[in-house]
Amino acid sequence: MTFGTMSPTAGAAPLDWLLVALVGASLGSFANVVIHRLPRGISLVRRRSRCPSCEQPIAWFDNVPLLSFALLVGRCRRCRARIPARYPLVEALGALLALAAFWRAPGPAQAVLWTGFALALLVVIFIDYDHRIIPDAITLPGAGVGLAAALLGPRPLPDALWGVALGAGGLLLVAWFYRLAAKREGLGLGDVKLMAMIGAFCGWQGALVTILLGSLAGSLVGIALLSSGRGTRRTALPFGSFLAPAAWAALFAGDWLWGQYLRLFTG
Ligand SMILES: [Zn+2]
Repeated sequence: MTFGTMSPTAGAAPLDWLLVALVGASLGSFANVVIHRLPRGISLVRRRSRCPSCEQPIAWFDNVPLLSFALLVGRCRRCRARIPARYPLVEALGALLALAAFWRAPGPAQAVLWTGFALALLVVIFIDYDHRIIPDAITLPGAGVGLAAALLGPRPLPDALWGVALGAGGLLLVAWFYRLAAKREGLGLGDVKLMAMIGAFCGWQGALVTILLGSLAGSLVGIALLSSGRGTRRTALPFGSFLAPAAWAALFAGDWLWGQYLRLFTG
């Protein structure tokens, strides 16, 4: 690795980027395991991965991120059942998120932490979508790591502490408005704890940007589902699946987005 101290990518060679992408794809592969197992209470490390169709353990050479899916043409070697396209998608996103983290983070240590945070968000997107829950096992340690990461800079620690307070508090406010407007509970404490983690990593500005973008995207999708007749006012949307990608935007383009947000008021 030739990553410098000022920017992790200063003087980075193509081989460094390839390595980051490979590690990211492997983390994406692990994210697939977490997405499947964590909500079902299955150990993340003990059992070998199995084909969900024929229950056969998957050999290591059939479990290489992205490559195996391509070589097997998306089918199990033994029973020929289709492998859901989500698996290579999550692996590819893992590679892209790791590349984005090493491109945008202010230093190598932050780049590693940002990769972990971005991958945690990736897991949240799919678990909330599948099960309408956001596991505390991700958000609570995540908030702690985010606060510890703030000690490395460049953002001052109070920004992260305010991020936790404003993220969680802001989400409670959104939940209150939602209850007033929809006359039912739509957001849970899982969303509040998710915003605490996001605020710890992205600061209070990033937390605001995330709530704004996430609410906007969630409302647009809700309206689209209503008007297309594919949902009713009682359709529960996984709000975490909207907040988490919004937090990617806040993490990788937060300063720019915050500037655009302020320009709304200053003209
Ligand atoms: Zn199979």
